[in-house]
Amino acid sequence: MGGLHQGHASLIEAAAKAKTADGSVLVSSFVNPLQFGVDEDFDRYPRSFDDDCALTQKAGASALWCPDEQEVYPYGCGDGWRLQAPAQFTAHLCGPWRPGHFDGVVTVVIRLLGLVRPHQLWLGEKDWQQLTILRHLVQDIGLAVRVRGCPTVREADGLAASSRNRYLSSEERVTAAAFSSALRSAADQLFSGTVGDALGRAALSQQLSKAGFEVEYVETVDPVSLQPAEAERSPKLLAASVRCGTTRLIDHVFLMTRSPIVAIDGPAGAGKSTVTRAFAERLGLLYLDTGAMYRAVTWWVQKNGADPSNAPAVEALIEGLEVDLSPLKDGVQTVRVNGRDITDAIRDPEVTGSVSLVAAHPCVRALLTQQQQRLGERGGLVAEGRDIGTAVFPDAEVKVFLTATPAERARRRARDLESRGHAVPELPELEAQIVERDRLDSTREVAPLVQAEDATELITDGMTINAVIDALEDLFRFRIAEEVWPTPAT
Ligand code: C5P
Repeated sequence: MGGLHQGHASLIEAAAKAKTADGSVLVSSFVNPLQFGVDEDFDRYPRSFDDDCALTQKAGASALWCPDEQEVYPYGCGDGWRLQAPAQFTAHLCGPWRPGHFDGVVTVVIRLLGLVRPHQLWLGEKDWQQLTILRHLVQDIGLAVRVRGCPTVREADGLAASSRNRYLSSEERVTAAAFSSALRSAADQLFSGTVGDALGRAALSQQLSKAGFEVEYVETVDPVSLQPAEAERSPKLLAASVRCGTTRLIDHVFLMTRSPIVAIDGPAGAGKSTVTRAFAERLGLLYLDTGAMYRAVTWWVQKNGADPSNAPAVEALIEGLEVDLSPLKDGVQTVRVNGRDITDAIRDPEVTGSVSLVAAHPCVRALLTQQQQRLGERGGLVAEGRDIGTAVFPDAEVKVFLTATPAERARRRARDLESRGHAVPELPELEAQIVERDRLDSTREVAPLVQAEDATELITDGMTINAVIDALEDLFRFRIAEEVWPTPAT
């Protein structure tokens, strides 16, 4: 909306870094009357055109667009189209304090997207509710734009950068610094379990009042649904709004019990390995290919000449078995069994043909599930398999069910076999093998392949590998802010 500051500069810089060689970074600045209430600060909202030009240029923007009201709303503000943000997203946080505000935001953003038709829309995480509502809008309406978030930029004393900070008198500016520090210390207390949620919020509210703020709200919500957070779900968003004099300030902090875990499940040949590996590298997460672990056990069973369907024989063989996965190096995860490198051997069609039988034995599942859970104790990992979101990490922050039609999966399997120098069966035969593996995996007694209730289904037919990785990143970022799990610098 103008009154640009370092927070806006960081968005422009990030967009400039992410753009393709022939792309452009366009900045719009428009003080949108629709998102101000009658008693709000529309008239005095900072309008600083010359400074905005200098800042956008320095940060790497290709153009700054400052439309007038007529251009954005040709039918006027009162009579034109108006979108309404669903009540579920506005029932908490700023919604009740600013009736109609988010309706004004979604209306102007839809108009902006229609006018500019960008590939990406960059927004700050500071206004988390706004960012999340816009992510829902784009997802639910099915708009072809990626919403990208940037971490909150803060002044040296912790105050979140905001155009409205310039309203603060020098005295108020000193007071304002206490806002973010109070939020952080409340988060520490809530995190350490010294206080429960309701008490922690009440104490924070009291502390803020004592520091000289008038408190509007202190709430803990789920960062995606924006509804009151369920006790055991992580991360949670602890957010507050206060008045410092007449200036309204908002800020938040995330409560997280450990680093995030991403669970990617799905049937055979859906391309999970390829995209999960690349996704892990993009987000700086550890990569855990649990299918490789089941394949390694299968290889061991076959090498020892045991019948893969004979449970007692398999059980005797796997006692004390060490399956080891290395960290990714140049996109490759080395698989070792009792110290022996079998990375390539586990992809042999012979292993593929028996792995579902071996993976169905409860003793095999118990052994590998325990190993996987140990690897994931500290989080910061993405695991792919069949039962990650349901049995291995049921509390994973992000769950995706990655799938494709059997015909598409057979085509991908054929390409994969060919590239590995194996004989390629006819497509109908490959499809039948895939369907049979799905049947075995989804009908076994222990930890069958099913979509977790809280998983998002991603059907990848017709999508490029990059598009799937982008979609995974977008799902991750819906829940996990840059400020808690930053994307590693490239
Ligand atoms: O993903 P990939 O094809 O390498 O998996 C091989 C097999 O391992 C699957 O078909 C399935 O039988 C088994 N598996 C499993 N649970 C997992 C991962 C793989 O049962 N979490």
